[in-house]
Amino acid sequence: MRAVKLRGKVLIDPNDDSVDLFTKIIEERKRNKNDADLSYWLKILANSIYGFFVELIPEHFQQPKKVMVFSGDESFPDSARVTEKRGQWFAPYLATLITSAGRLLLALLEVEVKRAKGTYLYCDTDSLAIVASKKGGTLRIPGAHGKRILTWDEVDRITAKFRALNPYDPNEVPDLLNLTDDNYVCTCSHELKTEHDEAGACEVLGCKCTAKKKIRRQIWGVGIAAKRYTLFEKVLDRRGKLTDIKIANPKAHGNRFSVSPKDNPKNWKKDAPLWIYEMWDYIVRGFLELERTLPDWAALPQMMRFSVSTWNVLKMLGMWEGARPHNFMFMVMTSEAFSFDLDFDNKPDKKPMVIVPFSSKQREWPKLKGFDIHNKDRRGKFRCYRMDDPDFHPLTYAHMMEEYVRHPEAKSLGPDGKLCTTDTRGLLKRTHITAGRIRYIDKETSSMWAQGDDLSVVTDHDETGFRVIEYGKRRKVTIPDSVKRVIEEMGQRELRRRGLGQHTSEKALRSTVRIQTYRKILSVIDGHKRD
Ligand SMILES: [Zn+2]
Ligand SMILES: [Zn+2]
Repeated sequence: MRAVKLRGKVLIDPNDDSVDLFTKIIEERKRNKNDADLSYWLKILANSIYGFFVELIPEHFQQPKKVMVFSGDESFPDSARVTEKRGQWFAPYLATLITSAGRLLLALLEVEVKRAKGTYLYCDTDSLAIVASKKGGTLRIPGAHGKRILTWDEVDRITAKFRALNPYDPNEVPDLLNLTDDNYVCTCSHELKTEHDEAGACEVLGCKCTAKKKIRRQIWGVGIAAKRYTLFEKVLDRRGKLTDIKIANPKAHGNRFSVSPKDNPKNWKKDAPLWIYEMWDYIVRGFLELERTLPDWAALPQMMRFSVSTWNVLKMLGMWEGARPHNFMFMVMTSEAFSFDLDFDNKPDKKPMVIVPFSSKQREWPKLKGFDIHNKDRRGKFRCYRMDDPDFHPLTYAHMMEEYVRHPEAKSLGPDGKLCTTDTRGLLKRTHITAGRIRYIDKETSSMWAQGDDLSVVTDHDETGFRVIEYGKRRKVTIPDSVKRVIEEMGQRELRRRGLGQHTSEKALRSTVRIQTYRKILSVIDGHKRD
């Protein structure tokens, strides 16, 4: 192994046992804070390096190929049209250890918060949004049952405990666990990270502040579902009445398929685009019953961008002259119930899929003309739709926001212990997962992204869905002796009564059976034991 210099600057020598690649990346990032490019590069490397270790490259074949399926407990042959080639740095044990250590740290933090009788608004990848205020108090929301709002001091004491686990040079990285910048503002009350430049000068128009100085602030949050949350600041008047809010660090998850309805201003340096700030401003004002007006982009039709990347897509578009290979196009989001205000003679046969030419100028969207590639008229031509046709009502960004707020959380239970609905409010509960049987699947990928925005993989009921291959469904197994004994004890009559034929049970005792049959035998035995 040879030593390398990352970006020609940071020396990594694998022969030097005193240096660990992972800690070094983080320490060097802090050490090189003033070198913005290098620091950013190291940050990206640190945050994404584990991905290299689990890179799997799918290869597609016309005919099924023989594959071996490996798991911790067993391995068996099968066949598949898609195989997974290992990436150059494939070392899945490293990737799983890195991600599970991250999970472990978060679990430790969660336990500490729970011990202090506190709770949190959300938990996302590497952070926990602990419910806290300067003076603390009692949390009064449905399902809170005596849970406390922790004090800032209590949060600081929990944070300090994690210093004992810090693997980094404390001179460079004093804390393993930090309060994020969202918890602070400058003395000029503007955001530290996004409203001040590197040197510390405030960039807000009219603000003359020249140096960042951290002041801890009370930050609030709204969470709708996993990865749909925002933090914000409340602006009060002199008498303490809420007059305004300021969105800080909103999350844009959940609408990654829609195209930006508004361009960012020049030199925009916040993580989320401006329109996401405006969307959350509108949503949070609704919750707080503050005056609000719909953003100017709310009436625009919702568009999903895709590229004409394969022959299949071109075929779907029926060689429509507006579609050329490698063009970008828009799919107009529509609703069957409300978008097509047409008379019965013209009622479309299939769920319409309206495609229009791509335009990066949002102003032009309402004037676009496109086709429903699922339905043809009497003359065999695609039905034509004009976006400004009074009989055609595409879903708008206002609809999207309405839907966004009503999205039920699927991974947790409501305060009542039941599945969440759109109306669920309060502190959610954990959903318990009961493991049934082991199923062997390939890498889980969104069908949209796996095909690189390929429209031909988007089906009616699976517009954003996930697709996996399951292995070993046709596999044959030998039944364990313990199970054979139970089969013999139960006897033919009882087995038949429970739906297991003589031929099958005899075959199970003698040779191999399909895995499905084995599962059936197990459930028959289970039923027998329970009665
Ligand atoms: Zn300022
Ligand atoms: Zn300032």
